[in-house]
Amino acid sequence: MDRFHSINGMLVEAALAAISVSDLGLLRGYGIFDFFLVRRGVPMFVDDYLARFERSARVLELLLPLPVPELRRHILQLIQANGMKEAAIRLLLTGGYADDGYTPAAPNWMVLHHDQPHTPAERYEQGIKLMTWRHVRELPEVKSTNYLTAIQIRHRLQQAGAPEVLYHDGVHVSESARSNFFVLLDTGILVTPVQGVLHGITRKQILHLAAQAGIPVEERPVRLDELPRAQEAFLTSTVKGVLPVVQIDEQRIGAGRPGPLAQQLGQAFEAHCQAYIATFTP
Ligand SMILES: *Cc1c(COP(=O)(O)O)cnc(C)c1O
Repeated sequence: MDRFHSINGMLVEAALAAISVSDLGLLRGYGIFDFFLVRRGVPMFVDDYLARFERSARVLELLLPLPVPELRRHILQLIQANGMKEAAIRLLLTGGYADDGYTPAAPNWMVLHHDQPHTPAERYEQGIKLMTWRHVRELPEVKSTNYLTAIQIRHRLQQAGAPEVLYHDGVHVSESARSNFFVLLDTGILVTPVQGVLHGITRKQILHLAAQAGIPVEERPVRLDELPRAQEAFLTSTVKGVLPVVQIDEQRIGAGRPGPLAQQLGQAFEAHCQAYIATFTP
């Protein structure tokens, strides 16, 4: 079936969806995006993602093309038009067509309808290795389209047998390229960095679910030298949900197997998603 994307508010066949070469997103990397799943036709946690999209736009001083409620309606219309029940939506907003190749103009905006990304089951069953890498994201609270470092180091990660990276600044860890990082310390406290990270929507749900389950949680800076005290670690993201981490560089985490807390929170998150789907109002 032909699929539509929305380009500046117009539904266009996916194969023909395009913008022009003077776009500031292309020329200078000036753009933001957001990304969420569609499950059983429901845009998961759409209001959280729209709020973050709006915050990212505000930081880059880009005007949202539509008020949030209208953008929400537009997204629901696209999901209906494509009839895709299991999918993913990418919102994009760029600096627009810059005459001088530098100055933002009327933003271009896109709503792209993708297939749902898949994470291999063995990554959840066995857990993954992270490779640490010194890198501080520019404007970390903005979901910008800039993934220069992440994409540049992908072969190094492959060579290290690490599907994902763990960024740090030499003292503190922050997050992965597209996921947030949690660690359960030997004190029994679940800790996750709060500054210098993208505030993930999955991170937010997991913090909420952990508190609900009576697990002590701290949002605070996490030092590299605390990692050897980890009983468990995991990543959270829209695509990955809760993904156990069993090794960081040459350091084994806990027993080197996915731990019970990651499993418990993964199940709680799935139940939370099901409840969202069941009670969603368009
Ligand atoms: C998208 C992203 C995350 C995860 O956020 P979710 O809303 O949970 O998907 C974390 N860090 C970075 C840098 C990201 O781009």
